[in-house]
Amino acid sequence: MSFANLGLRAEILRAVTDQGYDTPTPIQQQAIPAVLTGKDLMATAQTGTGKTASFTLPILQRLTDGANNRPARVARTPRVLVLTPTRELAIQVEESVRTYGKHLPINSLAVFGGVGINPQIANLRRGVDILVATPGRLLDHVQQRTVDLSAIEILVLDEADRMLDMGFIRDIRKIIALLPKQRQNLMFSATFSPDIRELASGLLHQPVSVDVAARNTAAETVTQKVIETNREQKKELLCHLFATRGWHQVLVFARTKHGADALAKTLEKSGIKSAAIHGDKSQGARTRALSEFKDGKLVALVATDIAARGIDIDALPYVINYELPNMPEDYVHRIGRTGRAGMEGEAISLVCHDERPQLKDIEKLIKRSLERVVIEGFEPSAVAAPRPPQPPRGPRKPQGPGKSLGQKTPAKGGRPQQHHTGSRHR
Ligand code: AMP
Repeated sequence: MSFANLGLRAEILRAVTDQGYDTPTPIQQQAIPAVLTGKDLMATAQTGTGKTASFTLPILQRLTDGANNRPARVARTPRVLVLTPTRELAIQVEESVRTYGKHLPINSLAVFGGVGINPQIANLRRGVDILVATPGRLLDHVQQRTVDLSAIEILVLDEADRMLDMGFIRDIRKIIALLPKQRQNLMFSATFSPDIRELASGLLHQPVSVDVAARNTAAETVTQKVIETNREQKKELLCHLFATRGWHQVLVFARTKHGADALAKTLEKSGIKSAAIHGDKSQGARTRALSEFKDGKLVALVATDIAARGIDIDALPYVINYELPNMPEDYVHRIGRTGRAGMEGEAISLVCHDERPQLKDIEKLIKRSLERVVIEGFEPSAVAAPRPPQPPRGPRKPQGPGKSLGQKTPAKGGRPQQHHTGSRHR
């Protein structure tokens, strides 16, 4: 199967070849022909599967097909609306539109909050074919009458599950109510929860279903390991791992914004170039940190779950869970940042006594138990140290005193192991 068999025009194929892609990923093979027929789509796929191109390529084709193929056409009103949960994802999707549409007369724009609205208004006025937006800022534009959604032909909900998790459902419904009834709807979600099912049943008409990668499992190419240790040794252990393993590009997950900042500072102090990204950082600071990380100027990027959504880095080799997430689904999202497009990746979780319930929930979700490793000098003590005060937890059930406290889980083989381990407009 090659891209040439999918029915895409030469300009699009040329852009795909420019990227160095020769074989469509499974979701691209299934979704592209379905979208080209004009049908609605419900796709279950996580980041890293090639899902962005799976909707971007056929959308570009549809906008320039047959009667629509007017050179230098720029719509006064947007023809495609892509909704994303975060600004990072909005920027990345719009970048993909520009990458794949570079040989076509198609204009695109990303609008999101946290930055000035006036440049976005000026760009909207100039005409945009494909508008990528986060729901809140799009509604600001609607309210100010700086965007007209009455000519939308195709609606895409990207990472719909995450938009629901972030409480965007009312905004999404408001936006949908402003769109023409006759349109094509494409919905992408990493999970297929009852809420997603409900949203899909109200929105999609006889959709084609595409389900790549079994849900809630990680890419086969990701090695997952747990290093057991004590909470108070985690910082030192992380620095030790950086020092002994020669890591060069590592995404580290922390649970809180404060924790992410503190960890980035600790790493910096021990000579590891680091930055933190989270919701309290300005858009400028986040974009800068991300591009420095991509360029290899930063060795470690410490992120919270929400800030990391949509981070798209080719060949990210390591993801470290400095702390486990409260929601087991977030673990799957986190490790989905590595092992992409068939590259090898390693996901390492530093787990202390009081995180064992979270670890159990994760193992239940992914239906496998993770290999435990102990690093010499950082072995977990038999009994947990008293827990420091914790910030309020998310919607997880309150936990008991931790059944497995003090229960030592030996490393595989019974003894400690060292394991080797902004918006743009064209
Ligand atoms: P996504 O799931 O859209 O976040 O894409 C994951 C990564 O895979 C991105 O870095 C894409 O550039 C890359 N990618 C997308 N399609 C292909 C393909 N057919 N072959 C190789 N890499 C791809």
